[in-house]
Amino acid sequence: MTATVRFAPSPTGRIHIGNARTALFNWLFAQQRGGRFILRFDDTDLARSRREYADGIERDLGWLGIRPDAVHRQSERFAVYDAAVAKLKAAGLLYACYETAEELELRRKVRLSRKLPPVYGREALRLTDAERGALEAQGRKPHWRFLLPNFEADPFAPRRTEVTWDDLCRGPQTVDLASLSDPVLVREDGTYLYTLPSVADDVEMGISHVIRGDDHVTNTGAQIALFRALGAEPPAFGHHNLLTTSTGEGLSKRTGALSIEGLREDGIEAMSVASLAVLIGSSEAVTAARSLDELAARFDIAAASRGAAKFNPAELPVLNRALLREAPFDEVAERLAALGISGPKAEPFWLAVRDNVSRLSEAVGWWAIVANGAPGPQRIAEADRDFVREAFDLLPAEPWDAATFKAWTEAVKRASGRSGKQLFGPLRLALTGHDHGPALAELLPLMGRESVLARRP
Ligand code: GLU
Repeated sequence: MTATVRFAPSPTGRIHIGNARTALFNWLFAQQRGGRFILRFDDTDLARSRREYADGIERDLGWLGIRPDAVHRQSERFAVYDAAVAKLKAAGLLYACYETAEELELRRKVRLSRKLPPVYGREALRLTDAERGALEAQGRKPHWRFLLPNFEADPFAPRRTEVTWDDLCRGPQTVDLASLSDPVLVREDGTYLYTLPSVADDVEMGISHVIRGDDHVTNTGAQIALFRALGAEPPAFGHHNLLTTSTGEGLSKRTGALSIEGLREDGIEAMSVASLAVLIGSSEAVTAARSLDELAARFDIAAASRGAAKFNPAELPVLNRALLREAPFDEVAERLAALGISGPKAEPFWLAVRDNVSRLSEAVGWWAIVANGAPGPQRIAEADRDFVREAFDLLPAEPWDAATFKAWTEAVKRASGRSGKQLFGPLRLALTGHDHGPALAELLPLMGRESVLARRP
């Protein structure tokens, strides 16, 4: 069976690394099966949804390497939901309710005090036509509830009704429909809550596997019932554990915490984000994958653990460093050029510095050092000054190549009697202004004799 999955964010903010986890689980799952990936914007909440967020989310996914086979917006699909409502009403499975939030809260308390489960008691089902008419005459508008199939003949005598599914991540799951209130599908003002549009679309779009965060597990019981009420076989479900910060806090789209956009701007590589987002909270070690294909080969949806996946953002620069130190020039050439690093020296330069950067943008500093020497005043110790000057006098004539540095420092060693740190430390400082950095043997030919001589203290 081929897979059709969907990632269904509501565009009320930009996506964060936890949302990326859901998107990537879906993407990798589909990739492994040659399936389809649908991006569906759950934007029925017209007041909070924004087109610019949706466009931003599409860009964020593109940056991660996710290319949807189709993009849909729920705000353009109300006819589908209206048809589903008509179908449910015709079957007597959607009923009008008129309680206010205060009335519902009061009833809930009464039920709790009677040791009854605090679910909706279906009181609105008892209303006569005349009572409904009277309420409407007072200006009350109904909201609409889905009648859960948790009774035999009498809806006021719900019985334990188990809905089960074999969760792709969590294994066998059971939800008792008698423990749930009939969900409200349509609000007083006629707007849709998440449940009905989601299920109607999953049916309509032929979604075979719903993969999402485990905050939706209880919803799934009612949703499975709704699939059946609409005459459809429910898809398979997989609920993965959610990412939390190391202090256990959840991430929120609205606060912008660890947004994909922010991480990208901070110079974190897409594959660092993807590797951490997918592998954390699983039995796989979190090491950087170079591509989504490589990640797909390592991904196992059943390997996600049940508990929250605590992650540490400090792992991102570590993964970045591991990725960059192996990044071939071709892979980064375009981005380097955008940073002003281009021309015949760009490739040998990249190969020289890639071991020393945890963000690609750090190459800019080294590029300037290669061209112009260390920024700011020289830091050479007084005791090393004459040594460095004399060393510079021994610089060989050009052409320079990879062997030049060795030949030069051998000569300096013979002349000065210095070796090891005593020898290389002051030279590195004079050439680059840093105590550590890329191999000088590789940098020297890129600098050239004239530029190096200008660094003589
Ligand atoms: N819009 C929902 C959310 O972001 C989608 C949940 C689902 O995948 O069904 O939580």
